[in-house]
Amino acid sequence: MTHVVPASVRSWVQVPEGSGFPIQNLPYGVFSDENGEPRPGVAIGESILDLKKVAGAGLLDALALPDGLFSAPSLNPFLALGRPGWTAVRARVADLLGQGNEEVAATGIADTAIVAQREVTMHLPIEVGDFVDFYSSIHHATNVGRLFRPDAEPLLPNWRHLPVGYHGRAGTVVVSGTPISRPTGQRRGPDGGPPAFGPSNALDFELEVGFVTGNMPGEPLAARDVEEHIFGMCLVNDWSARDIQSWESQPLGPFLGKSFATSISPWIVPLDAVAPYRVDPPHQEPNVLDYLRTDGHTGVDLRLEVEVIPNGAEGGTVVTRTGFAAMYWTMPQQLAHATVNGATVRAGDLFASGTVSGPEPGSLGSLLEITRNGKQPIALADGSELTYLGDGDTVVIRGRCASEGAPIIGFGECTGTVG
Ligand code: MN
Repeated sequence: MTHVVPASVRSWVQVPEGSGFPIQNLPYGVFSDENGEPRPGVAIGESILDLKKVAGAGLLDALALPDGLFSAPSLNPFLALGRPGWTAVRARVADLLGQGNEEVAATGIADTAIVAQREVTMHLPIEVGDFVDFYSSIHHATNVGRLFRPDAEPLLPNWRHLPVGYHGRAGTVVVSGTPISRPTGQRRGPDGGPPAFGPSNALDFELEVGFVTGNMPGEPLAARDVEEHIFGMCLVNDWSARDIQSWESQPLGPFLGKSFATSISPWIVPLDAVAPYRVDPPHQEPNVLDYLRTDGHTGVDLRLEVEVIPNGAEGGTVVTRTGFAAMYWTMPQQLAHATVNGATVRAGDLFASGTVSGPEPGSLGSLLEITRNGKQPIALADGSELTYLGDGDTVVIRGRCASEGAPIIGFGECTGTVG
């Protein structure tokens, strides 16, 4: 069940040319302003449709939704509806915002239910239940393998058989714009001596894309059947302290080097909105086990970039341009694998892709790769050099699906300043 808004449809709400939020997108977020507490809304152009207001005016009554669904300070109650509810709400919102529809105006709420994005505060859109981070880019995994195991095969023997991942810290997932404190911790000491302790000297970003789920029973579903439980997608910055990470991750995986902060974009783009941009994933060799097999367009042609704005600089430098379509492991494969052992999934769980890197020099999704673990600084537009992030530096991740003749589906921005 997919609800695609045809490319010819326009909204009566003004949508500037080139906006990432045309009526074909309709991403969900949580906002507040001087007129109320945090509540769900849908982005349209440079505005937001206030879903609490819309529901309060009776405009969703025909859908017979649970009470208070859009009065909550997160999208979790909505996510718990599952796909039939998601589709019904999306279809109804598209109707209400479509050119010629006068229902919002007729109920007298047009002035208050359409809010300017520049006048609101965006909040974390979901109460994150569990958070998993994968390692699904073959280029990233190969680059990291070469950096840390220069004399061995870059990919470990399991990598092409399962989407490698770890459970992250849900409680420190923050919304875009939240300042990021430089973490303190242990790092390898000089000359094999005792460890050093202090603020990280190797603070990095990781360009990632996440997806958010509804509730799933603890019965495993194959990758080809699991996609109906994926609600939508967002941008993710999995901030990483490389010095803390490399000292502690022996033999277990990421812990304090990652758990201090993970930023996500404020808007969750419904999977239905990216339907025109679904593509074949890369060929997988060798064949994967049956529960991981999929057919057809399980990838997403989402273009991504990272801009770094150095402390005090007027402008920034785009240090990476890359594409999500090249990810070796896809979202349905990740979700099927994460639940193959019977683990349950709840509405509001977050799964991130792992660093998105491409094969070329300008398409790497972390400073670890771009600067070869801080050994090769890159020049920024303001004349400064970048190895790892300095205090006051800002990282901006952007994403959009765009192709000739199809509506732009924007993901907005995921930003954070090292404070
Ligand atoms: Mn990561």
